[in-house]
Amino acid sequence: MDMNKVDIKNLSLKELGHALKDLGMPAYTARQIFTWLYKKRVTDFEQMTDIAKPFRAELAKRFCIPALKLNKKQVGRDRTEKYQFVLADGASIESVLIPMERWHTLCVSTQAGCALGCTFCLTGIKGFKRNLTVSEITGQLAAVQAENPDMPVSHIVFMGMGEPFANEHATLGAIDILTSEEGYQYSNHRITVSTAGLVPQVRRFIRESKANLAVSLNALYDDTRTALMPINATYPLAELMAALEDYHQHRRGRITFEYVMIKGINDGIAHAIQLAKLLKRFPFKVNLIPFNEHRGTDYERPDEDHIRAFQDYLQKHTIACTVRTTHGEEIEAACGQLGGKNIAQEELP
Ligand code: SAH
Ligand code: SF4
Repeated sequence: MDMNKVDIKNLSLKELGHALKDLGMPAYTARQIFTWLYKKRVTDFEQMTDIAKPFRAELAKRFCIPALKLNKKQVGRDRTEKYQFVLADGASIESVLIPMERWHTLCVSTQAGCALGCTFCLTGIKGFKRNLTVSEITGQLAAVQAENPDMPVSHIVFMGMGEPFANEHATLGAIDILTSEEGYQYSNHRITVSTAGLVPQVRRFIRESKANLAVSLNALYDDTRTALMPINATYPLAELMAALEDYHQHRRGRITFEYVMIKGINDGIAHAIQLAKLLKRFPFKVNLIPFNEHRGTDYERPDEDHIRAFQDYLQKHTIACTVRTTHGEEIEAACGQLGGKNIAQEELP
């Protein structure tokens, strides 16, 4: 990538319109360019044949259209695909494509690493490298789709590496391009952002975005939650819940609580009872995620009967509750296993 040129995929339609105006081009050219970039997916300004030739040359002088560089693709037994991309500065990120019978879901990263340091998550244990740009987030969809033209991605979840709200600007910019008429045209209902609970950003998102929200709850008491998720010391449960209370005033549909089940930590019936109580105030969906074991921690996955008993209790109390099937565990593509390959074995206990 030419560092002197602007990555055109980092610009919103409005920003591109302004940039073109400064270059003396008509504002409607921005719409044409968006169509070429996101609908026809061209990689060169020369291919934008409805734009006058001198303008094309001018665009090529100022802007570039980079594509993510695929370093490695692994396919799991259940057809889950893990993609590792190497970015221009050498940082590496991962995306996971989960093919289902009717849907194909893409899980995208928003940061290289994560600074929030949740003690059960390999991405968090590995630490933070940097935020991704808008182009690097939407580029994951473009690259995976180019590899799989026969498998149209129907749903996009921001649940890969990183905390989307710690990179709020690029996350919202990417959602804008994914959902815009001139962009990828995804319905907001098909996009879900998962957060560890950054309260100010959660409040803004509830007010300003129409995409779905998932909150990684993972524990029902502040001491346990802080031990698992240090961010809870800054935004304890009461503050997080107060922010979520706003949800029903602004939106239809329901938030999802993600709850990673860890043996002996948060998997007992007492926890299910407490969760059911909480869900009387917040009629949300619950997604139980059995802990995916990895080399970074000693935490363990609960026994199957504990998971079932937990789920049964919630369902008996009419709480919508699913257990997330683990996808691609053997290729380390499951939740919380991303970013593991760069950790040298000897760095870990
Ligand atoms: N940072 C955001 C989104 C990425 S993490 C967040 O925390 O919500 C996506 C999901 O994976 C979160 O719900 C997180 O709790 C879960 N997760 C992390 N490590 C895990 C592990 N080892 N096993 C199972 N789920 C895990
Ligand atoms: Fe970051 Fe989410 Fe992992 Fe926590 S669970 S370290 S917020 S990616």
